[in-house]
Amino acid sequence: MSYRSGRHFLQLPGPTQVPGRVFRAMARAVIDHRGPGFGRMVLGLFEGLKWVFGDPAHVFIFPSSASGCWETALVNTLSPGDRVLLWNNGFFTSKWGGFARELGFDVEVRTGDWRHPADPERLAARLAQDRTRQIQAVLIVHNETSTGVTSDIAAVRAALDEAHHPALLMVDAVSSLAATPYRQAEWGVDVTVCGSQKGLMLPPGLGFCAVSEKALDRHREVAPAPRAYFDWTAMLGDNEGGYFPYTPPTTLLYGLEASLAMLREEGADATCARHARLAEATRQAVAGWSLRNYCQDPKAVSNAGTTVMVGEGEDAEAFRLAVLERFDMSLGTGLGPLKGKVFRIGHLGDLNELMLMGALAGVEMGLKTSGIAHTAGGLAAAAEFLAEA
Ligand code: PLP
Repeated sequence: MSYRSGRHFLQLPGPTQVPGRVFRAMARAVIDHRGPGFGRMVLGLFEGLKWVFGDPAHVFIFPSSASGCWETALVNTLSPGDRVLLWNNGFFTSKWGGFARELGFDVEVRTGDWRHPADPERLAARLAQDRTRQIQAVLIVHNETSTGVTSDIAAVRAALDEAHHPALLMVDAVSSLAATPYRQAEWGVDVTVCGSQKGLMLPPGLGFCAVSEKALDRHREVAPAPRAYFDWTAMLGDNEGGYFPYTPPTTLLYGLEASLAMLREEGADATCARHARLAEATRQAVAGWSLRNYCQDPKAVSNAGTTVMVGEGEDAEAFRLAVLERFDMSLGTGLGPLKGKVFRIGHLGDLNELMLMGALAGVEMGLKTSGIAHTAGGLAAAAEFLAEA
């Protein structure tokens, strides 16, 4: 393959572009992961992570992708056969439910449609019916990356409170953290699952599980589901000194130190405001092309990525491939039943206005070269918004 000048545009809603500062931080010698310097560094990381997640009791770091933390959340807080209530509104929610079923839990699914967020009223009604308290956990994906639909976690918490239900609230914040406001303690979230390769601007490879005191108590009380590598007890003991029960990915942790410093320098509110603004510019572009946003609820549009529908009979995959070949840009694919019907524009992570405009220019040129029906003017609409807002 011949050399391609300039940089590849990785315009997915994760993995996102890794900033040079993070890569440089990672390009250091591996040190003894049982030595004092390592322990000090990791204790600092725990503090930084608590800040990002909104004050959980502890944040476990696992050398895994985020899916590993779906598993660790379940097997550390539930007994075999326990019932969980899952709101299914997308590819990742379905997948989490599939994991729970494979692990032997009894998964009760409530679903609306994929174009809308979780419905707190329906959840409240179901929880109120559960008089014998069979439901042990409620599982919600904060931002469904497949559809670009964000659910209201505070409202789901209110649904649990309204029913006076003691179930744990488990949230997947994989593509919302560091892009959308997230307040674990304030919202009474018991377990938050996340990964390194999205708003945290790191390469893939770290999974996070932020936990409340209630989740830790449940962990100590329940008849344990089978677990070994993902066991919290072993982790908790070693984490006290900043260590792990096995060899951690030292270079990714160096990168995490840098990305947490960058997030602190920008400030949580500013990071979320930047994401909201870039997301709005993207939606203005989509409207300017006369294309449709897959998300149908204007209050639930995503800060992290926009899922765009193509017309009946058009092939979103062929469009994506054309954009990759002609303009060296990766857009997100349609996942599950959405394959071929949508493409996804990621606007998450280390991104500014001109980078986004470059990505939107690539989309507009790609729409033209691949004959997708659209109107010109998306790029101009985004430029107008960004120049004025
Ligand atoms: N949950 C959400 C919302 C995601 O977007 C993803 C991946 O994109 C996952 C879970 C799974 O993460 P991983 O691929 O890191 O296991």
